[in-house]
Amino acid sequence: MEYEQLLENAYKNIKSVVGNSERFEIPKVKGFVSGNKTIITNIREIVSYIRRPLEHLIKFLQKELAVYGKLENGRLTLKTRVNSNKVNEKIALYVKEFVLCHECKKPDTEIISERGIKFKHCLACGAKYPIKSKI
Ligand SMILES: [Zn+2]
Repeated sequence: MEYEQLLENAYKNIKSVVGNSERFEIPKVKGFVSGNKTIITNIREIVSYIRRPLEHLIKFLQKELAVYGKLENGRLTLKTRVNSNKVNEKIALYVKEFVLCHECKKPDTEIISERGIKFKHCLACGAKYPIKSKI
């Protein structure tokens, strides 16, 4: 990881600790490493909390972690060893991109599609943003 990125992550962590008065708190991943695989056992709990499709989050994690992932018996199997902190970090990134409103920071959003463009629409304040990510 680049030093600048490390620094950026450090800032992000500080921010998330300071702004922790909100009730929205993503569940941390639970799982274990088995051989060369990483098994995440609570992926369903996480998607039901953030209210986004499981397949979409898996696609995002595969791309971000550059690893093949597969859903097996409700658990996500990643075909390499991945540190859980790294997975938590990527899920936080997903939530920032696809769940939290940029304006009011609330998670009460929906993804809508208009003329082939995806938007994140906030049900709390009405803000609407195009989603940059191609996933
Ligand atoms: Zn909002």
